[in-house]
Amino acid sequence: MRYPHLFQPLDLGRVRLPNRILMGSMHTGLEARPDGIERLAAFYAERARGGAALIVTGGFSPNDEGELGPHRAQFSTPADRDRHRPIPQAVRAEGGCIVLQLLHSGRYGYHQRIVAPSPLKAPINPASPREMSAADITRTIADFARAAQLAQEAGYDGVEIMGSEGYLITQFLALRTNQRSDDWGGSLENRSRFACEIVRAVRAATTQDFILVYRISALDLVEGGLSGEETVTVARAIEAAGATLLNTGIGWHEARIPTIAQAVPRAGFAWAARRIKEAVTIPVVASNRINEPGAADQIIARGDADMVSLARALLADAEFANKAKAGDPAAINICIACNQACLDHYFAGQPASCVVNPRAGRETKLAYTPVARRKRIAVVGGGPAGLSCAAVAAERGHDVVLFEKSARVGGQFNLAARIPGKQEFAASVAYYAERLRRAGARIVLGHAPRDAELAPFDEIVVATGVEPRKPPIAGVESAHVIGYAEAISGRARVGEAVAILGAGGIGYDVALYLLERASRSALEPQEFSRHWGVSTDHGSVGGLDARGRESAAPAHRITMLKRSHTPFGHTLGRSTGWVHRAELARNGVKMLKGVEYRRIDAAGVHIALEGADAVVPADTIIVCAGQEPQRELVAALEALGRTPHVIGGAREAGELDAKRAMLEGAELAARL
Ligand code: NAP
Ligand code: SF4
Repeated sequence: MRYPHLFQPLDLGRVRLPNRILMGSMHTGLEARPDGIERLAAFYAERARGGAALIVTGGFSPNDEGELGPHRAQFSTPADRDRHRPIPQAVRAEGGCIVLQLLHSGRYGYHQRIVAPSPLKAPINPASPREMSAADITRTIADFARAAQLAQEAGYDGVEIMGSEGYLITQFLALRTNQRSDDWGGSLENRSRFACEIVRAVRAATTQDFILVYRISALDLVEGGLSGEETVTVARAIEAAGATLLNTGIGWHEARIPTIAQAVPRAGFAWAARRIKEAVTIPVVASNRINEPGAADQIIARGDADMVSLARALLADAEFANKAKAGDPAAINICIACNQACLDHYFAGQPASCVVNPRAGRETKLAYTPVARRKRIAVVGGGPAGLSCAAVAAERGHDVVLFEKSARVGGQFNLAARIPGKQEFAASVAYYAERLRRAGARIVLGHAPRDAELAPFDEIVVATGVEPRKPPIAGVESAHVIGYAEAISGRARVGEAVAILGAGGIGYDVALYLLERASRSALEPQEFSRHWGVSTDHGSVGGLDARGRESAAPAHRITMLKRSHTPFGHTLGRSTGWVHRAELARNGVKMLKGVEYRRIDAAGVHIALEGADAVVPADTIIVCAGQEPQRELVAALEALGRTPHVIGGAREAGELDAKRAMLEGAELAARL
């Protein structure tokens, strides 16, 4: 067996898990929707069928104050119990095991009824919480117990008590948020009483074999958080209170250190789980940025943890576990940690899905069924849209030929893979290329087919993508003005003083690429820790390095310019944009908005800013001014009387992102 440690069974009382893969809790955005239960049942059943040993649902509040948002995602009444029954039923039918996560948001809730141990506002929430009275605390503990009892009646195999990420239980544990002077504040024993009482009450309200997972904050990453020693003390207390399993979480949501973004090295926080594992006898689960079976197996082999938690990795590929068990990692659709269709969707109030697997979260809507009539299909363009379309069409049974004019498939993903922290995009291209090969699609590289050559095909899909926009600025044709593709591919030399025209996702990517230091910090766990000021020392408060972050002089002096007056970085993903903004800020990147471009010459970029003329000195100017669709082929085909399907950037370049491109490809292929 290729991953022997990952596929050892694990006994949890009456339940024997067949492997060490836990599907971590994710907010799917379906919890509060009218059709949510049916869709969640299909979503989790597909992951159970895919081999995940133990599944944790998204968070449900045990009471009203603990809700995360204005819509009800609560599990507190007999009606909730009855409504939920299809979820554990569907998972059990696939031989899986599922626990319900009970999450009280505390001061992180987005509504007016929020409560916390002390009335301290969270930096990421405009609302202030009400201080909980002693009676509130006792009632909340009882609410957790009642919810757990109802979860057992609903057929769940257990519950996970959410005690990490800065939610209510963590707020009781840390001095940062708990300034009480009664029995629930002060000493660590008092601050951990709330967590322990919840575990004890849940244990008492359910049977001994009911799985009680406690998600502990292995690393708070905030000032005033727990030290490693205190975390270990809490872990022991939770074990003594009756937990079956300790899952781990990394970082509060208000932490200003990336914990799951692409900048985090694969399995980069497993060391924090090890510290807990060494202190307790119950199994411990490692989490965060574990997206491939090799890293997962190594975590178990090294003894860092007894299980691994994969969350987004199982959005990207529901069959991750079965494929790993078969020793076939090339078949696994790798999560690229972009957060674009999962976390960012959730924050925008949309159901979570996945950029590289558009079927995730659409299990009841997007079906890839075998075709009744095999057609000859030409897909022109091997970027994300073309790859997604060709893969699904070929797997459904069509005879697919994919044409790509360059020497390799991947399109914009190949450029993205060169950006610091975005190396995962290369894994995604490799996966799609392999998937096409296995599905029997023919790939023709280095060839852009002419309209006549496409005549024999039953269906023609144009996925020719985009070309960079060249703004009409005097001097834009000068030798020291280059496009982003030349800059990122390394084909052009970039001088010391750089002006970037345009500040969309690609402008930010180019700046990050030029700040080489970030690239090293994205690869090595120790470099990552130094770069972001994370400490592995047991005594450090909140896991923060008292010496702060390490900085070195950047290789380029960069100025970013844009015409609009909107804030810089506002188009970046909500869950990851702040990481890019922080990197640029610490490297002294200058930002000018509301500029009017006058001309470009050897001195740099001449602009008008707030009514005055100015020059931004630059020896290299990089144009990142968006894209235009490449549609010549569409016009040529239409002139021949053919109506091609046009997807991705070729259909519409504005606001193009890989998420839309891959979804359009998959949806079209499902219909063809
Ligand atoms: P974009 O997000 O549309 O940004 C284009 C930039 O060019 C804007 O800042 C715009 O600013 C400027 N611009 C537009 N027309 C211009 C003109 N005629 N003259 C001068 N400046 C002009 O496009 P992008 O940065 O190329 O990114 C393409 C897509 O890839 C985006 O939709 C993005 O979602 C995705 N992407 C995302 C990320 C990420 O989130 N990390 C990274 C890479 C790519 P002004 O109009 O204000 O001047
Ligand atoms: Fe991973 Fe991106 Fe998919 Fe989210 S959207 S699961 S981060 S690949």
